[in-house]
Amino acid sequence: MNKPSIYGLTLDQLTEWLLEHGHKKFRASQVWDWLYRKRVTQFSEMNNVNKECIDVLEENFSIQTLTEHVRQESKDGTIKFLFRLQDGNLIETVLMRHKYGLSVCVTTQVGCNIGCSFCASGLLTKNRDLTSGEIVEQIMNVQLHLDTKGQDERVSHIVVMGIGEPFDNFQNTVDFLEVVKDHKGLAIGARHITVSTSGLANKIYEFADLKLQVNLAVSLHAPNNELRTKIMKINKAFPIEKLMDSIDYYLEKTNRRVTYEYILIRDVNDHKAEALQLAELIGDKRHLSYVNLIPYNPVDEHGDYQRSTPEAISEFFDTLKKKGINCGVRLEQGADIDAACGQLRSKQEKKKEKVK
Ligand code: SAH
Ligand code: SF4
Repeated sequence: MNKPSIYGLTLDQLTEWLLEHGHKKFRASQVWDWLYRKRVTQFSEMNNVNKECIDVLEENFSIQTLTEHVRQESKDGTIKFLFRLQDGNLIETVLMRHKYGLSVCVTTQVGCNIGCSFCASGLLTKNRDLTSGEIVEQIMNVQLHLDTKGQDERVSHIVVMGIGEPFDNFQNTVDFLEVVKDHKGLAIGARHITVSTSGLANKIYEFADLKLQVNLAVSLHAPNNELRTKIMKINKAFPIEKLMDSIDYYLEKTNRRVTYEYILIRDVNDHKAEALQLAELIGDKRHLSYVNLIPYNPVDEHGDYQRSTPEAISEFFDTLKKKGINCGVRLEQGADIDAACGQLRSKQEKKKEKVK
């Protein structure tokens, strides 16, 4: 039987588990130090931990459950990893280099059930949720890869924007966040972590109540229900009014800025009229809003969607700016290795199908 990943346990959960198994509380901190600071990959290397404790950990947990299947490095330093899970499923993780540090984009589900019309991940319906351990392990494997280069580089930022809808795998995503934030572990600052949701309003309330200090990004992509429902069918369950109510609640509870992601798709959602409507929609909370304009990354399977022209992108940006909305255009990274959401995995899956 496959053993679960030790990375899935928060420090409190590991402490409790060790106590239940007759071990001292301080062992948990020791084990965490080996896992996240010294970053060993074998329990037997934890040489200040007694043998009985090592044995019981070894019997019940694995440190490495993912194996690297493909690693692609882009000219700009972006690295895309394709990992194989114990059950054979493939997931992707991307490391990006920015001026402000190194950020990792993690996957939360195998496939995605939200089925947005423009997204490659949504083409592959959800096979299963990832465990919290599998999500943490993506960060650890990237960090371990950096460690092998000996340049003392650290993952400093995390974006939960890979394949899957994190709020459709809520508890595992929250446990993952608790682990990576913990000062005794990787200690990645909450303010350096962003979770992106397609807009599951009910979960936005829950997320607000947790007060995790983690940044929230909402994939809006359209400023009215008619258009949003056309490109994101989740809008039927959580139309814009309901979504905005949940965001108001989030703002009230956390006083933290929300990022709105807006993909620009040629002639679909990129007209001046939509920019004006968007400005209207978030105008009353503009002091706590930031719009991230993302030129659409064409996906083979959605041939009718194209990237907006540079002129349309500038006009959209200028229109928002003139209305006093904070916004920016996201620069593309790793384009030469298909680092767009879901693309590498879908290509690999297709290759597999051809071989069959
Ligand atoms: N499921 C979550 C997080 C993963 S998707 C969500 O939808 O927010 C991360 C971001 O990539 C989302 O804003 C999504 O809309 C966007 N995205 C999906 N396909 C894209 C594409 N082909 N080009 C550009 N952005 C894309
Ligand atoms: Fe799922 Fe996000 Fe892709 Fe929509 S954009 S299908 S929610 S991964």
